[in-house]
Amino acid sequence: MDKLNEFIEVAGEPGAYARRIRASGRSVIGYYCSYAPEEIIHAAGLHPVRLFGTGGDSGIADRHLQAYCCSLVRGALAESLTGGLDYLDGTVFPHTCDSIQRLSDIWRLNTGHGFFADVVLPVKLTGESARQYLIDVLQRFKRDLESYFGLTVTEESLRSSIRIYNTIRSCLNEIYELKSRNPGLLTGRELFSIVRASMVMDREGLRDKLQALLRELREGVPGRDGRGRRLMLVGNACNHPDVYDLIERSGGQVVWDDLCTGTRWFSGAIREEGDPVASIAERLFERQVCPSKHKSPTARGEHLVAQAREHGAEGVIFLYLKFCDPHSFDYPYLKGYLKDAGIPSMLLEIEDTLPPEGQILTRIETFTQMLGPETGAALTGASRTGREG
Ligand code: SF4
Ligand code: SF4
Repeated sequence: MDKLNEFIEVAGEPGAYARRIRASGRSVIGYYCSYAPEEIIHAAGLHPVRLFGTGGDSGIADRHLQAYCCSLVRGALAESLTGGLDYLDGTVFPHTCDSIQRLSDIWRLNTGHGFFADVVLPVKLTGESARQYLIDVLQRFKRDLESYFGLTVTEESLRSSIRIYNTIRSCLNEIYELKSRNPGLLTGRELFSIVRASMVMDREGLRDKLQALLRELREGVPGRDGRGRRLMLVGNACNHPDVYDLIERSGGQVVWDDLCTGTRWFSGAIREEGDPVASIAERLFERQVCPSKHKSPTARGEHLVAQAREHGAEGVIFLYLKFCDPHSFDYPYLKGYLKDAGIPSMLLEIEDTLPPEGQILTRIETFTQMLGPETGAALTGASRTGREG
């Protein structure tokens, strides 16, 4: 499918794309976490870009960070210190996990990427005071951007950005739904590339390209039909398209995810009426939480079980970066929660560099074989929710 080519290209070289944006005269603001209020950055006429880390040697970062920081954070700092982020005009750090907070301090003191903001979101996303506090934090972030870049973020520009982001998020959601109904419509690697590139591309152009891709996918693509064990991928940020290839080689298909570089980035629409900053805050407040935020002791478990059931997932693969405390602490309870719901799971702990593929392949194959014989019901799990297969 030709319409996939640009997504695959940008996902493979996000830095090269960001440099082209900057060369066109737009300032580029990087972020590492899906709690970043991108809509405000976009409404300011700046270009938000998700940063993914080097994926390579992060030795230089060890001078500044403790060895127990996750490889994403180490890779992020290494990329900056070795000049790989020369296109940045600023960076935004939402207040989330401890590693990101440590990175934020070290970043401010040791890198020179212009604008810098800690967006100190509440940890507990419940109650009216937390809701109001979140709105205040976003208002302050807007003022910081205005004062640093000497611009005004108008209500109209915020509303326009909200509409663009709502369309992008709804397109991505529908693309996921289409893959859930027909897992062979897109490979996991293609889906990964679409979401990853969406975090990098010019958002107006992206909206149009996603809509065009969606029109083609809705028609169905001859020869793109596929089955396999229906699996859900759950974890932090995934930087490894190879994982999807290995799952497919093991007879599996990722039919849904709960990843920071997946549904957690695009789930939830923003109300288009009322005060725009309050509406942006409302989405962050109501959105499915990651383990560095708190809604209730069982919110994540309930969400995972509901998503797995809705998409007919026969099993869940937890894909965690090593030394990721928030996700590791959540794991025993989530595993138990899924087990009680009759949904088997396995854990893959990786670093930014994958171990030899044979090791992972064997583990995933063992898991898919353990799921027992394939059944028609499992293969058409999405249709159990009333959708057409
Ligand atoms: S898992 Fe949570 S804290 Fe970590 S990067 Fe994703 S949204 Fe941010
Ligand atoms: S992988 Fe875990 S520790 Fe690392 S930045 Fe994401 S949430 Fe934080």
